[in-house]
Amino acid sequence: QAKSAGRRTYMRYDDAMDVSIRKRAILSGALRKALDHDEFRLVYQPRLALDSSAIVGVEALLRWNGAEHGAVPPDEFIPLAEESGQILEIGEWVLREACLALRRWQQHGLAGLSMAVNVSVLQLLRGNFPEVVRRILEDARLDPRSLELELTESVLMANAGQTAEKLLALRKLGVSLAIDDFGTGYSSLAYLKRLPITTLKIDKAFIRDVTTDPEDAAITSTIITMAHSLGLRVVAEGVETEAQMRFLVGQNCDEIQGFWLARPLEAHACLAFMRGRAPQRLCADGVRAAMP
Ligand code: C2E
Ligand code: MG
Ligand code: MG
Ligand code: MG
Repeated sequence: QAKSAGRRTYMRYDDAMDVSIRKRAILSGALRKALDHDEFRLVYQPRLALDSSAIVGVEALLRWNGAEHGAVPPDEFIPLAEESGQILEIGEWVLREACLALRRWQQHGLAGLSMAVNVSVLQLLRGNFPEVVRRILEDARLDPRSLELELTESVLMANAGQTAEKLLALRKLGVSLAIDDFGTGYSSLAYLKRLPITTLKIDKAFIRDVTTDPEDAAITSTIITMAHSLGLRVVAEGVETEAQMRFLVGQNCDEIQGFWLARPLEAHACLAFMRGRAPQRLCADGVRAAMP
């Protein structure tokens, strides 16, 4: 009896595995048609510089609204697109779309903004990525200094040997390079020094409890101090409250991003947000006013 119960448990586990594998296969199939069917779009989340209280840029975030599956979060479909290699094509679409959006905003009179785009390490490893980026910037007639590429810490470090040369080529173009989700992987100081990185983005996992958990506060303040001593800019992501913002101001963090400032917005809404928050207005009702 114990044996058959055990087997039944095992079978149920097996069925569950089967469902998730099947779900992934179905999603993966739907994903293949997503580009052709125009199912992707980008949303943009503003970034605020704490010293000037100005919006200095946005991060482009990919959204997939599938005909059959509705909205699927990027944490679910990006890994599938990486497995199938489709991320190369999708990633190129994202870059082009983000650069064109920035170009349009510049034509609407918003100067000095930068666009941050998430890049999968596969894009760096395969093909001539620096050349792809150069061509897209040229087509959009953008200054390369207005583009920042975000790479996730763990994957970047695992492939440090193969990616270093491409990162250097990108830096030579004038593009900025950020390590995303910093603190969750296993970067050593030696790697940070060796890679041509310009920016660290502190993972939102540390920001969440930064005002109540002394350890998260210590980690965050240490990352900021270390980054500054290496000449890097620091962005805190996932800032949801005024108290978190104040803490980060106190630690000399350079920029914040998060729901406290704005959620990721559709292009037109983002333009309206940025226009409505000219630097002078922000001083009046934004960060400065919120500070003690
Ligand atoms: P990420 O690059 O670290 O992006 C930040 C994520 O945090 C976004 O989730 C954003 O919506 C969310 N977020 C922003 N502010 C807050 C906040 O105050 N609180 C909380 N709890 N969350 C906040 P999203 O859009 O679901 O993206 C998840 C991840 O998917 C991204 O993490 C990035 O790694 C990946 N991703 C998104 N778009 C792309 C893309 O175009 N290409 C690649 N390769 N990856 C992408
Ligand atoms: Mg990012
Ligand atoms: Mg992140
Ligand atoms: Mg992330």
